[in-house]
Amino acid sequence: MADAESPVCAEGARFECFQCGNCCSGSPGYVRFSPEESERMAAHLGIDVDEFLRRYARKRGGRWSLKEIETEGGYDCVFLARDAETGSARCSIYPVRPEQCRTWPFWPENLKSPEAWESAAEGCPGMRRLGQTQRRGL
Ligand code: SF4
Ligand code: SF4
Repeated sequence: MADAESPVCAEGARFECFQCGNCCSGSPGYVRFSPEESERMAAHLGIDVDEFLRRYARKRGGRWSLKEIETEGGYDCVFLARDAETGSARCSIYPVRPEQCRTWPFWPENLKSPEAWESAAEGCPGMRRLGQTQRRGL
């Protein structure tokens, strides 16, 4: 989560999600989760953990990650629900999403410098809008 000592936080970085879905799609990647998180996600879906892992997860590098679905634009997390009418993209398991998702964009690598924050913001409009506005002193 946000680190008050971070140079990014010191510049007053702010974040507001626009539900564009960018952070849940794009190039192939990993959404890791702990055993406790798999239990919570499975319970939320009304299935047992074995079924959850079989249907929604895969093992990569010896660790579990959520499956992805190939789309025209890249790869969506299996739990990304796109609304063709409004263009919004929401997490269908939002209350029980893994910590990796809960803590975005306040990851240590994004907080290490204003440049790192700006770089990550290129794919996340929720970071770009308020972060850049503050940096420019507008
Ligand atoms: S990329 Fe940023 S604005 Fe878009 S859904 Fe993810 S967190 Fe929200
Ligand atoms: S679990 Fe939800 S928030 Fe996390 S990547 Fe998948 S759709 Fe996005």
